[in-house]
Amino acid sequence: MSDIKLANAPAGVEGSGFFATSLDKVIGLARSNSLWPLPFATSCCGIEFMATMGSTYDLARFGAERPSFSPRQADMLLVMGTIAKKMGPVLKQVYIQMAEPRWVIAVGACASSGGIFDTYSVLQGIDEIIPVDVYVPGCPPRPEAILDGVMRLQEIVKNESLRRRETTEYKALLEKYGIHNNG
Ligand code: SF4
Repeated sequence: MSDIKLANAPAGVEGSGFFATSLDKVIGLARSNSLWPLPFATSCCGIEFMATMGSTYDLARFGAERPSFSPRQADMLLVMGTIAKKMGPVLKQVYIQMAEPRWVIAVGACASSGGIFDTYSVLQGIDEIIPVDVYVPGCPPRPEAILDGVMRLQEIVKNESLRRRETTEYKALLEKYGIHNNG
């Protein structure tokens, strides 16, 4: 028989209604269920996002019904459509203007890889200019696929350490893209 003696829990810290967690988890839960999208839509994939916002697919279920067209009040950048190289600096500026923590979803083949437009004028994936957290395949992706992308991002957000943005790895990632405004 084990001679380990368990101490009695102090009053109020056990039983129904009590649970222990970490600050990271609580903040991750709040952030992941209140992502504010910034739709950067340049072509057809943007229409699928409009459907995703509509009542049938109802992005509001995920706490993300409030699109922002100001980078200052958004933390989930959704890039949807063909991004011409001329648009690259504009997209990068929008990303830089978003406050940390910020996340990016590349919606559809064009944003992810240039799609069918393997040509001199089109960016072959937005990850050539900004970091991407989730890629949604499809040309165009259906609203269900966009919702799946948002849910995958929620998982990332939920499990992100509060210290991640201060790490040398994260700073090196931004540095790789020539972005210096972190912090
Ligand atoms: S991935 Fe297809 S549907 Fe989406 S913007 Fe490109 S061409 Fe249009």
